[in-house]
Amino acid sequence: MSVYLDYQAAKPVDVRAISEMTIYLNQKFANPASLHCDGDDATDALMKYRRKIAEFINAPDPDSIIFTSGATESNNLALIGTAMRYRKKGDHIIISEIEHISILNIAKYLERQGFNVSRVPVNQYGIIRLDKLERLITDKTILISIATASNEVGSIQPIKEISEIAVKHKILFHTDAVASESVIPIDVQEIPVDMLTLSSNDIYGPRGIGALYLKKGVRINPIIIGGGQERGMRSGSENVPGIVGFGKAAEIMKREINDEASRLQILRDKLIKGILETIPNSYLNGHPEKRLPHNVHFRFDFIEGESLILSLKDEGIAAATGSACSSKTLEPSHTLIAMGLLHMEAHGSLAITLGRYTKEEDINELLEKLPNIVKRLRLLSPLTPPDLIKKYNEVN
Ligand code: PMP
Repeated sequence: MSVYLDYQAAKPVDVRAISEMTIYLNQKFANPASLHCDGDDATDALMKYRRKIAEFINAPDPDSIIFTSGATESNNLALIGTAMRYRKKGDHIIISEIEHISILNIAKYLERQGFNVSRVPVNQYGIIRLDKLERLITDKTILISIATASNEVGSIQPIKEISEIAVKHKILFHTDAVASESVIPIDVQEIPVDMLTLSSNDIYGPRGIGALYLKKGVRINPIIIGGGQERGMRSGSENVPGIVGFGKAAEIMKREINDEASRLQILRDKLIKGILETIPNSYLNGHPEKRLPHNVHFRFDFIEGESLILSLKDEGIAAATGSACSSKTLEPSHTLIAMGLLHMEAHGSLAITLGRYTKEEDINELLEKLPNIVKRLRLLSPLTPPDLIKKYNEVN
């Protein structure tokens, strides 16, 4: 693809992270559990890069970082680990209607195990309704899990207010920070979360590695049992090369995040303005201001998101429709439906996510090609009203 605008789905690994991790694949390859010198090298690497992840989120204690295989596993550990630990105390968990599919499916699994799950609704911008959240809390509520931002429409959630509600009611609070971790700095001391999910690839580290921040003193049950690695919270020999790459990527991201977010926000705003100006019947999904600096999510009347993506693909442009992680399903996005869109409206969506290697020329190219693609699809669509077809034909 000549223009890649699908950074929420996958990011390239930063070459600086690759060069740092490769020696741990074939030279310093020992297992940290081994007592020989090579094992000590691996243990030192684990300590060094665990500290970098802790610094990335301003966690005071590196031991609060539990390495996992990625965000899905971290979410499983947070939700199932909490549910199993506290099931005698309470059986009620609160999530939002627009969580990532991994959280939604874990919630369904817990419901099958006898837990009650409430889903906080969102407003038309995809921002959770704080008034409703507080009303859902009961004396059986053990956990609130709400993502820092929507991985689909990019709406940024009022995490500080949610954490204050959780503290007030003495309920554990978990947030999946994956959608925002490359553009919004995380400070777990400023916003007191109990658990926070991180993914390595979302900050340009390798795949197959992630972490759960587990605040000191917070106890949950492990879900993977074995040799007792990660203080017993996640057994299995550590993925040392992955951890090194993840740690290096976090170090770089911490340094560059503010500049990168400002640069992407300018490109994002240019794209949003350009689309609204050149394409009739186009609507920005998500909040106009409280949105991730790299997220552009649009809905176009009368056409299908799938045909739009395929037409863009023919032009060498990679974008996504609906949810970046499961765009191959034909179901309309649960997030858009929760925001009040009709099924038909939700189907005409385009998700664009910018990243470290997005250039202004990429935005210009999309702005040059998209209006014509939308026009061509609309002229073919039986849903397009005659007055819009007439308007399009008059311009020719
Ligand atoms: N949470 C969010 C918000 C995501 O966007 C994703 C997908 N990138 C995940 C969790 C799951 O990540 P993974 O597939 O790497 O486990």
